[in-house]
Amino acid sequence: MNIHEYQGKAILKDFGAPVSAGFPALSVAEAVEAARKLPGPLYVVKSQIHAGGRGKGKFKELPADAKGGVRLAKSVEEVESFAKEMLGNTLVTVQTGPAGKQVNRLYIEDGSDIEKEFYLSALVDRETSRIAFVVSTEGGMDIEAVAHDTPEKIKTFSVDPATGIMPHHGRTVAKALGLTGDLAKQAEKVLTQIYNAFVAKDMAMLEINPLIVTTQGQIKCLDAKVNFDSNSLYRHPDVVALRDETEEDAKEIEASKYDLAYIALDGTIGCMVNGAGLAMATLDIIQLYGESPANFLDVGGGASEEKVTAAFKIITADPKVKGILVNIFGGIMKCDVIARGVIAAVKAVGLQVPLVVRLEGTNVEEGKAILRESGLNVIPADDLDDAAQKIVAAVKKA
Ligand code: GDP
Ligand code: MG
Repeated sequence: MNIHEYQGKAILKDFGAPVSAGFPALSVAEAVEAARKLPGPLYVVKSQIHAGGRGKGKFKELPADAKGGVRLAKSVEEVESFAKEMLGNTLVTVQTGPAGKQVNRLYIEDGSDIEKEFYLSALVDRETSRIAFVVSTEGGMDIEAVAHDTPEKIKTFSVDPATGIMPHHGRTVAKALGLTGDLAKQAEKVLTQIYNAFVAKDMAMLEINPLIVTTQGQIKCLDAKVNFDSNSLYRHPDVVALRDETEEDAKEIEASKYDLAYIALDGTIGCMVNGAGLAMATLDIIQLYGESPANFLDVGGGASEEKVTAAFKIITADPKVKGILVNIFGGIMKCDVIARGVIAAVKAVGLQVPLVVRLEGTNVEEGKAILRESGLNVIPADDLDDAAQKIVAAVKKA
């Protein structure tokens, strides 16, 4: 689960990490009120969307030479005019995709005078099963580009959970960033604060880009991108309360209500599969035969008819879907339950696109008979290969 920058900064602040003063704003009036509470004379007006690259982003509704989604304002009047330009408009960044995201919230922050910009992030490293840090002197930029072009400028290390964060980790960061004296001490402290926040809140990723040194010699977290481990949300009601559903894919929210593992993708073939491995294989084979999947969907082991119906409705509601492939290997999941779920869903929402069904396993004959006798226009398939070729052919023909 992702949260907004201002929410991430509030968490960091709770753990003592240095962030600028600021207030979120949902309207132009709130933005002006927020600016009045700040000391000035420099303010930052920051679009709050669940995507990075806002500074270099472009608003769809504004002229191409208009400023981006993070702007420095030199007066309260300027904060007001920027807020007017940003709120309600669509910001397109390298991370939003071409459709962009509507800006419904702003964060009005006390402006900092920047001396240097660094990069610092923490994530769970699956290879070492530890929390790893990534540090670079190249802050404020696209870290993927830095990793590609100048990998020597990136330093990574991981923290042994048995010891937790140690002073030598802080020294490693200070050295990587070329900091000495008081700044090195500040960097060491920030690292500990970030680590503590990361562990306590079960984060999966925390990216501070940029971490800055101000001209006054202070280290600060100027940006914060936080992603939480969804499996841990049950023990963090405070984090769940930060969820902004308007930032999430409506289909994914609907799927989460039914406890379906659903991820929206960009292709044209809707997939309903049981088991994550089989679902991945299904996506691959669709791609192999020259089309792209519209989603990943694992209906799970013992899905009920109701759950299958919900899953099918989510798939058909997606306007990108030009064909559907149901691929079920019935183990705990029974093929007849799948067949009834599909029929119930089609009765409720209709079927505008070709549907290929491949059933195998428990109660397969019963499942196939139910589909045959339903009178639905189902294209049956014998195995995964056959199923993928049939749905790709049907979509290409349509
Ligand atoms: P992002 O573009 O979504 O990553 O948003 P950031 O919060 O990282 O802001 C983008 C850039 O705006 C930063 O890299 C800074 O260069 C600049 N910026 C943000 N806040 C301030 C500030 O307080 N003072 C100054 N001078 N620049 C800032
Ligand atoms: Mg940033």
